[in-house]
Amino acid sequence: MKEIILCKYGEIILKGANKASFESLLLREVKRRAKAIGNFSVRYMQSTVFVEPLDKNSEEMIDDMYDQIRHVFGFAGICKAAACEKNMDSIIKTAVEYLQDKIPRGAALRAEARRSDKKFPLSSPEIAAEVGGAILDARPDLKVDLKHPDVTVRIEIRDREAYIHAGQEKGAGGIPAGSAGKGLLLLSGGIDSPVAGYMMMRRGLALDALHFESFPYTSELAREKVMTLASELTEFSGKMRVHVISLTKIQEEIRDRCNEEYFTLILRRFMMRLASMCAAENYCSVIVTGESLGQVASQTLPAMCATEAVAEIPVFRPCIGMDKDDIVSTARAIGTFETSILPYEDCCTVFTPKHPKTRPEIEKIIAEEAKLDYDTLLNEAWESRYCVIKNQFEA
Ligand code: ATP
Ligand code: MG
Repeated sequence: MKEIILCKYGEIILKGANKASFESLLLREVKRRAKAIGNFSVRYMQSTVFVEPLDKNSEEMIDDMYDQIRHVFGFAGICKAAACEKNMDSIIKTAVEYLQDKIPRGAALRAEARRSDKKFPLSSPEIAAEVGGAILDARPDLKVDLKHPDVTVRIEIRDREAYIHAGQEKGAGGIPAGSAGKGLLLLSGGIDSPVAGYMMMRRGLALDALHFESFPYTSELAREKVMTLASELTEFSGKMRVHVISLTKIQEEIRDRCNEEYFTLILRRFMMRLASMCAAENYCSVIVTGESLGQVASQTLPAMCATEAVAEIPVFRPCIGMDKDDIVSTARAIGTFETSILPYEDCCTVFTPKHPKTRPEIEKIIAEEAKLDYDTLLNEAWESRYCVIKNQFEA
């Protein structure tokens, strides 16, 4: 019996004239992953990508590939399915055999059929009734429940073949990676920024990351943690370039010369300026952060306005309206949470003020910044940059 993976389009279905470019990105992404796993045929037809293993004994390979497909943005539904010839004998035989160990004992069942091949001699309800009946004959422990089934068996009569499956799941959703352009993710070692990155990648943004460190106030382990987070995000993006800039000198100068209440805000404005420079150098049209309104003193509305004022491109904050609980749930679901909670310090927690300004006045910040040799500090930090490239399938 031949088992394949069916991946059904999400929002791309709604794209008009642009649909083909979204489809080709989607196909490229599936093929990239397939290539790393084994020998697969990947094709698309009727708003579905068909992924078929070409080698014998491919059971394990198909499971690995299915896990990969789970991470591909652009699919609303995914499932493994048995493929067979388009005649009722073959469909019934395949359905009974394939679903044997896929339906739990005593389960309530519903069968549904869809024909995109309208020439098929039976109607959809007739196909569903016949296949459902045959499964029940073979499995007297099962019952029928059309309203509240435990398991829905689906029979799809498509262009070349028929497909039978019983476990369609939600896909990763979103739109294909890279279809929306490129952004620069400010990646700290915390919980929020990897989630922010994931959310924007899901909306089609390709991302570079920028991490600020403050050695020796931040450690080698803190940097490694950020690199691990970037690697974890490559499960979705395939690749991530991580730019690293040192803020050590800037932070020491702020500590020595400025009013403590403004430390964090002045630092964050440096970050925004450096991020704007890094974005320009790497063709990123937007900066992405993990900020959430009111979460900490530097994320009040006036504080965010003061930091955004020096950004040269738009700043996206996808977590802005999320509670910490929601961000944590997403972090767990995408697999970054356990790394994020490792206890290494971030440069934002170095020299933190006891009473940070939550309603800063921009004139006062500017007056504090005037106490620094601003351009020299900015340029020195900029010159400290280096880049590490993380690839999904690297050892
Ligand atoms: P996170 O959990 O993502 O660290 P946070 O709630 O701790 O966020 P802050 O430390 O105030 O908040 O940082 C807010 C945002 O600023 C982060 O989400 C991230 O986008 C950016 N940021 C903070 N520190 C760094 C850093 N060291 N390098 C790069 N970006 C940073
Ligand atoms: Mg942080």
